[in-house]
Amino acid sequence: MSFPVTYYCPHCEALVELERDGYLADKAVTPFPFEGWNYVAPDDPFEDRDDVDGVVFTCGADGLLVDNAESGCGERFYLSFVRFENGIEIDPRTPTEQVELGERPVRSRSGGPAGPTGPRGPSGSPGPNDPGGFW
Ligand SMILES: [Zn+2]
Repeated sequence: MSFPVTYYCPHCEALVELERDGYLADKAVTPFPFEGWNYVAPDDPFEDRDDVDGVVFTCGADGLLVDNAESGCGERFYLSFVRFENGIEIDPRTPTEQVELGERPVRSRSGGPAGPTGPRGPSGSPGPNDPGGFW
């Protein structure tokens, strides 16, 4: 069962409409793609597919504008779904500059107080889902 969901073009704020199944969480609509996300056109199947992480719109060109009086700006924008890896939500805002740093990380062998696995995730998740513990 699907129903229409509307999104605003981040370039010109035209409203587009897309049929969604509803159980996939939307992360964001942005004028640029996220690193590592896989986008398909609205015509392609995208719901419940492991290899699809979002939809790329072409404003006005893909026939999804809600208001027929609008013509769209022709720019692309991106609907990104929430992605999870090992039960943890992937944060697409991780800056790509991190991998462009020239210096190599050297703190792994310096004997810091943290264990070799480093700090836990934000605020941790105490409970039976802790993959590091054993029972
Ligand atoms: Zn637009």
